[in-house]
Amino acid sequence: MSPSLDTAGLGARAAEMLDELAQISASADHLTRFFLTPEHRRGADLVARWMRQAGLEVTEDALGTVRGHRPGASPDAPRLLFGSHIDTVENAGRFDGCLGVVLPILALDWLARSGHQAPFGIDVLAFGDEEGSRFPTTLSASAAIAGIFSPSMLAARDSDGVRFEDALRAYGKDPADIPAAAYDPARVIAYVEAHIEQGPVLEVEGEPLGIVTAIAGASRLSVTVTGEAGHAGTVPMRLRHDALLGAAEMALAIERIAVEAGDGMVATVGRVHVEPGAVNVIPARVVFTVDLRSGSDLSRRTALERLEREAHHVADRRGLGVVISAFHEVGTVPCFPDLQRRLAEAAASLGARPVWMPSGAGHDGQAVSRLCPIGMLFVRCRGGISHNPAEYASPADMGLAAGTLVRFIERFEWPGPAGSLREAGESA
Ligand SMILES: [Zn+2]
Repeated sequence: MSPSLDTAGLGARAAEMLDELAQISASADHLTRFFLTPEHRRGADLVARWMRQAGLEVTEDALGTVRGHRPGASPDAPRLLFGSHIDTVENAGRFDGCLGVVLPILALDWLARSGHQAPFGIDVLAFGDEEGSRFPTTLSASAAIAGIFSPSMLAARDSDGVRFEDALRAYGKDPADIPAAAYDPARVIAYVEAHIEQGPVLEVEGEPLGIVTAIAGASRLSVTVTGEAGHAGTVPMRLRHDALLGAAEMALAIERIAVEAGDGMVATVGRVHVEPGAVNVIPARVVFTVDLRSGSDLSRRTALERLEREAHHVADRRGLGVVISAFHEVGTVPCFPDLQRRLAEAAASLGARPVWMPSGAGHDGQAVSRLCPIGMLFVRCRGGISHNPAEYASPADMGLAAGTLVRFIERFEWPGPAGSLREAGESA
């Protein structure tokens, strides 16, 4: 085990690398780097250069994912995977995704210089399609390595009408090679992703690191409330069937349901459409959306049932109609308990006391969970702000996270009992 880990030095280097990567943008005055664009190409080339400097063998797969490989004791040794994404939203911050690519490169560079040799192979993956900013697809690159890429994605078009497939070919890739991008599940041990928290919990707790327990499942609903239009001046209050007031009461009920669930559940009414939408007409019809997320599928389903009951109760009392339809449903992806424990112990060995928490945002790990057990390490970000140029993680926190990955790898015992991680993962 490397005796004195220079986490301050690792953090300073992470900040430099993230600054350099952030210079690669479609815009001169802000950071925008979309999938399969010239900026993606340049970003991928920079990442590949860093990987080579860290002694990794670099390849690129059919979705443009840059893969840096450090061989294990034998060429067919199973591999531990690390990674995240280098695409961004429009006008992005420099940490979201890129941090999870830079930190394992630094960790492997450190381990190479300290002479550490793991029996297992290690791959660092830089995915290019997590944000879904260019095409109405997301996680296509991580889906490909997990062997679950859906060919229907190839027909997706960006806002200029360019097909995913044509963009891929223009990037120098052949869609026929996509199946070969998949790892053999029998030769993968686990996947670990480091990422900024994108929320305020670690800052409030005063802790630099978080251990993710699960990537939250989400339900999105469309709720249509129908009442009766009427003259705003002549219909007495007691005779009204105001669809907006019913919707408002339902929105407050949704807030209460999430708060009372008490397990980090979050619910948001983000869009409200009112008809006829006139200043002097009682609202006749309201359509609003609900986004409900929880680290537990059971608790999310229970909340949805309660929401349905309470919405009908409100509608009945007010003489309104209500129809609820779900238009998006993604299950919770649990992080593997053994990886949570190993990450926490690695962090604790550097004096951190990480906070256990679910991730409310989606990540590449969701797709990779179809391949192997996953673990995630969160890094505190200022104000919980992300998808914004104000996004910031301190060099000290990033250094601690890089050091945690170093310790995690150093302490990772493999082979353990054959297949132990995977079997336990299936029952988790
Ligand atoms: Zn991200």
